[in-house]
Amino acid sequence: MSRLEGRTAIITGGASGIGAASARLFVEEGARVLIADMQQERGRALAEELGDAAAFFKVDVARESDVRGAVEDVMKRWDRLDCIYNNAGFGGALGPIDETTVEEFDLTFDVLLKGVFLGIKHAAPVMRRQGGGSIISTASVAGLKTGESPHLYSVAKAAVIHLTKSVALELGQDGIRVNCICPGIIATPLAAGRPGASDEQLSKLSHALRGAQAMGRVGQPEDVARAAVWLASDESSWVTGTAQVVDGGANAGRPWRRQGDWITRKREIKLYRPEGR
Ligand code: NAD
Repeated sequence: MSRLEGRTAIITGGASGIGAASARLFVEEGARVLIADMQQERGRALAEELGDAAAFFKVDVARESDVRGAVEDVMKRWDRLDCIYNNAGFGGALGPIDETTVEEFDLTFDVLLKGVFLGIKHAAPVMRRQGGGSIISTASVAGLKTGESPHLYSVAKAAVIHLTKSVALELGQDGIRVNCICPGIIATPLAAGRPGASDEQLSKLSHALRGAQAMGRVGQPEDVARAAVWLASDESSWVTGTAQVVDGGANAGRPWRRQGDWITRKREIKLYRPEGR
């Protein structure tokens, strides 16, 4: 039996990368999916490829009327909403803090944080009336650890993790689970720094960054999509308020053997013994 049979979901940022892989896998698992994205051409093409189980809805997640519209569209089409996956995102403001403009600050937080807030806000009442649902958002390992990404991206993703936990406490009584996923480096146009990056560019990126995590390969969008399917399914029915790390081991730290000369020096000492032993 497919794990999402009869369920419906909205996936924001569903036209590319992690969102597109999730849309494919959700449909494969029996769900109907509204691909909600700003990129019309890619979003429509994916919806067509997926057939009757998918539709496209143009959304800027930073605009409340658009997000409300996506929830209304799902209800009109399929009369229920079991999952919203707040996944849309971009790299946000780059550069030193004193060169970051207020406009860049606002845009970064509008998409990465307000977009998640709006998805939760508009899905929750529908799910409450239905007696439950699963809310998932894409945060990042950058929200757990500084230095992984630009300042504002990192802070916005940390806020997504905190929002997830805070809202999970409120909605648990309604049978609504709220979780987020913290991916490490995933080979997508975002990680390549080019919207619409080609397969060749993504495979170059995967090759260059293969050593950046314990597993010896960069993450693929499907690695995150599988976590999202699990969080949307009943297999995770007692899981809420969590930040699921999907990063090939990157967040566990740097391998001992690569930490520099001082370790080699310590190795020469071999073993510390307390005096007298
Ligand atoms: P991607 O560029 O392939 O996909 C992002 C999608 O979001 C695109 O289709 C884009 O059109 C859409 N989008 C951007 N702004 C939007 C807006 N305002 N309204 C609606 N849609 C919008 O990148 P991806 O890597 O698949 O990113 C998905 C999520 O994963 C993002 O939230 C990103 O921050 C997060 N993430 C990515 C990585 C990585 O290494 N790729 C790591 C950690 C977290």
